[in-house]
Amino acid sequence: MIELLFLLLPVAAGYGWIMGKNNAKNQAHQLNRQITSEYSKGLKFLLDREEDQGLEHLINLLEVAADSVEHYSTLATMFRRRGELDRAIKIHELLLKHPSLNEQQAAASRLELAEDYIMAGLLDGAEEHLVWLVKANHSDALEPILNLYSQTREWEKGINMFEAHSDLFSKPQHFKAIANFYCEAALLSNDPQIMRKAISLNHKAIRPLYELGKSAFAKEDYVKAIYYWRELICSFTFFAPLFIDDLAHSYEQLNLTHQFHELLLQLLDKGGVLIKIKHCQALLEQGHTEQAIKFLTDSLKRQPTIRGFSFLLQLLAKQNNDIKDVLDQIDKLVTSYIATKPDFQCQHCGFTSHTIYWVCPSCKHWETIVPSRGLDGF
Ligand SMILES: [Zn+2]
Repeated sequence: MIELLFLLLPVAAGYGWIMGKNNAKNQAHQLNRQITSEYSKGLKFLLDREEDQGLEHLINLLEVAADSVEHYSTLATMFRRRGELDRAIKIHELLLKHPSLNEQQAAASRLELAEDYIMAGLLDGAEEHLVWLVKANHSDALEPILNLYSQTREWEKGINMFEAHSDLFSKPQHFKAIANFYCEAALLSNDPQIMRKAISLNHKAIRPLYELGKSAFAKEDYVKAIYYWRELICSFTFFAPLFIDDLAHSYEQLNLTHQFHELLLQLLDKGGVLIKIKHCQALLEQGHTEQAIKFLTDSLKRQPTIRGFSFLLQLLAKQNNDIKDVLDQIDKLVTSYIATKPDFQCQHCGFTSHTIYWVCPSCKHWETIVPSRGLDGF
């Protein structure tokens, strides 16, 4: 019931506006009577607990007394939050038509109306208003329209909008969205040329490099796979779990395993436990078992991780035949524990999963889901 007091604000504002127009006393008097009558009816319904009809009457006052934009906007937002979208739409449409709105207020009302339409599932109507705003250089409309095109999977529309209005783009998350739009369009048309456009954007995105490396790897073009994935792992080392085994395989196919080992050495400081495990495997391949165990033990003392502990158990089991069975049993338990933990987590909303999603199913942000870190992570 408290939020219904908001309804009094626009009415009071409308009342004040009308009373202030002393040079049109008769008109003001007539309007005043009209408002008072509607207002009384609205209040009566509210007092009789017939809230729907009460609200209808108070909304009707908008047409007579639309003066205080902020109050009506607050009222509409309240309706939207309550899920009463028809009322929110009605208020925003009335506001948008009102001649007294300045450009900023009109743009804000249009944006709110588009949000109402999106919530109501009227996506065409929302798109129309958002496109209008983008064309009028309102960067606030970028996020909702990019979300809308993500939802409808209209990648081309998003790309065309970006190419026509690239000067409006400044936020990293918008560039990430467009980079992924290029990826989606490229995968649909099987055209890596479109994917490469994503790399030429001002802001580095993760997925284009990943997909280009993956595409090259699938074609057994190991030189290109290394080219893209090496750049990716150097810039975004924490994404290594997605492709490090295939990257190692690419080096191996070209008889360049020593270069892979050198790369791991470069990444040790900024990489997580997975890079350390790969480094240990490299030491083992070179016959330096004791060195590998010492390296891993020292690393775990500094930064304990379950995956590192599991790998250490496997190393020790190979070294100690007499307690191998016990160590294997413990490792089995540890591995089962790891399997229950999510492999990926959204850095924006905390959503967790066992697979990578390039757009978070929960918060709809692009490239915010990353391999898990910390004690249970990579
Ligand atoms: Zn999220």
